[in-house]
Amino acid sequence: MTDRKDELAENLAKVEERIAAACAAAGRPREEVTLIVVTKTYPASDVRILSELGVRHLAENRDQDAAPKAAECSDLPLTWHFVGQLQTNKVRSVVGYADIVQSVDRPKLVTVLSKEAVRAGRELGCLIQVALDAGDGARGERGGVAPGGIEELADLVARAPGLRLDGLMTVAPLAGEYAGRQQAAFERLMVLSTGLRRAHPAATMVSAGMSADLEQAVAAGATHVRVGTAVLGVRLGLG
Ligand SMILES: *Cc1c(COP(=O)(O)O)cnc(C)c1O
Repeated sequence: MTDRKDELAENLAKVEERIAAACAAAGRPREEVTLIVVTKTYPASDVRILSELGVRHLAENRDQDAAPKAAECSDLPLTWHFVGQLQTNKVRSVVGYADIVQSVDRPKLVTVLSKEAVRAGRELGCLIQVALDAGDGARGERGGVAPGGIEELADLVARAPGLRLDGLMTVAPLAGEYAGRQQAAFERLMVLSTGLRRAHPAATMVSAGMSADLEQAVAAGATHVRVGTAVLGVRLGLG
């Protein structure tokens, strides 16, 4: 094995242990939680190693980096999640490789995603990104719709050709009433998910938790955790 493969294998094993322990503590079966490895800023060679190590779900947050990486790895059995703020002029590119867009947060984006998914002949999974720190009618600093806007967006996605409503995503807020209270934030997301599933029973995905707070997300009931740093290492520069 290469040094990098050893390193990634060791990090993955540690993250796997954390997820398993969090599931056990919450009385949840391990299979209820899917690990998504966030490879932003890391090269396609790391994606290839992760695939060899059994990782199937990858995430990226910038189309400029993600598009060439996904193209280089198109021979691998991977599911790509797009988790970053998405400008409508990038949608055509993102629809070319993403299986799931986790950052749907405004009606205009739904319209363009639908148009491009239909054009590409694909069905695209969509999560509504919730900004728990945003006031009603507002969007979060890092994207996301305020809780009051979920229903309208969910109905739009559910009716849009080419799109499939899969659930909700959040990033723990740095400001507002949930700052520093990740578990409370993720529990709030679960309540919102329960509400969503009354009208959309198949929208069962709850994507929450990153390297620093995956335990709190699993405890709250998340179905997907998005882990970057703890697997790949500390990112240099932006990302
Ligand atoms: C970068 C990123 C992650 C992973 O964060 P880490 O702290 O590196 O685990 C998860 N979700 C989103 C939306 C991200 O942009």
